[in-house]
Amino acid sequence: MIPPRTATTLLSLTEQQMVKFVRAQRWPDYRAKQILRWIYQRRLRTINEMTDLPMHDRLTLSQSATIGRSPQVKVLSSRDGTRKLLLTLNDGMSIEAVLIPDKERLTLCVSTQVGCMLDCGFCLTGRMGLQRNLKLHEIIDQILTAQDLLNSDEQITNLVFMGMGEPLANLDNLKAAVTVLTNKPWGLGWSRRRVTVSTAGLASRLPDVAALGVNLAISLNATTEEQRRELMPAASEIASLRSLLAACRRYPLASHQRLTFEYVLLADVNDHEADARRLVQLLRSIRCKVNLIPFNEFPGSPFHRPPERAILRFQSILRDAGLDAFIRKSRGRDVFGACGQLGDISDHRSSLTLTPTETRC
Ligand code: SAH
Repeated sequence: MIPPRTATTLLSLTEQQMVKFVRAQRWPDYRAKQILRWIYQRRLRTINEMTDLPMHDRLTLSQSATIGRSPQVKVLSSRDGTRKLLLTLNDGMSIEAVLIPDKERLTLCVSTQVGCMLDCGFCLTGRMGLQRNLKLHEIIDQILTAQDLLNSDEQITNLVFMGMGEPLANLDNLKAAVTVLTNKPWGLGWSRRRVTVSTAGLASRLPDVAALGVNLAISLNATTEEQRRELMPAASEIASLRSLLAACRRYPLASHQRLTFEYVLLADVNDHEADARRLVQLLRSIRCKVNLIPFNEFPGSPFHRPPERAILRFQSILRDAGLDAFIRKSRGRDVFGACGQLGDISDHRSSLTLTPTETRC
């Protein structure tokens, strides 16, 4: 059964919209939850498998709706166990999500946009420009597809909105995705404590993240207005370093929470001892931790990764001043799945020395 072009995408409906949709078919309200459970909890790809719906209703549904899963998924497996998922969207564009194992954790990094409107000089996604916002079903599809790929002994423990794009620039769909993710009766039943949203600094939207009850990470990356303007021009245009930090100080943290500041370490640019000391000063009155991300290189990138000793020295200055500072391990670099490496590398493919295992599902 081929549904018409105007078909409803079931994974893009909120609970209320699903109820409206089943009422329009003159079905009882409980059918909404039945369908929601099938598509989220059982991760069905075809309507015909909804076996507690009468055959006739399944047929009607197939004529007017699609589930909204991407038919084409490619998986690149890194030598370190990281898996990069490439999903092709209906309009032919593609997005990436990354599954990152680390000891007892398995983190899924999810995209919210195709490309990005921000032009941070150290990030490959920024070079694509913003193609478009992802729709709700395209965000959710990354999570469901990752779950489909897991072995029986695996479980995703953390979900981070840190993939391609700026999550707070696609706020409505981000909110809807968190609702689905955390809904217990029919959704994915996640705890909000295991979900993190990362922003390049859309200061006026931080209260929206607080209202969602998830964790917030801020990509700071610089300690002076001038340097942040150079490294993150579009983000700095939206909010200065000063106003961003003021918004962070106002952020209503729950008692179990603290903010995370991300800081990409760029050799000879922002990795000096003076930078570390300024960072300590800036974060002094904020309950937080710092994730240091040594720069991940990509073809044509203008920056370099600092040597190990510079990274450790930077960390120890923060630690000695009482800040919790961690160095983020670079994972999946051989499949271009590490921070800042998500994006269109097709122009450079020939220059890459990849030896990933490629599979399709
Ligand atoms: N737009 C959001 C989420 C995507 S970027 C944000 O800016 O937070 C996710 C993280 O990767 C950010 O902290 C960003 O600073 C970092 N990053 C971007 N490019 C990088 C690169 N080439 N190497 C290391 N980290 C990078």
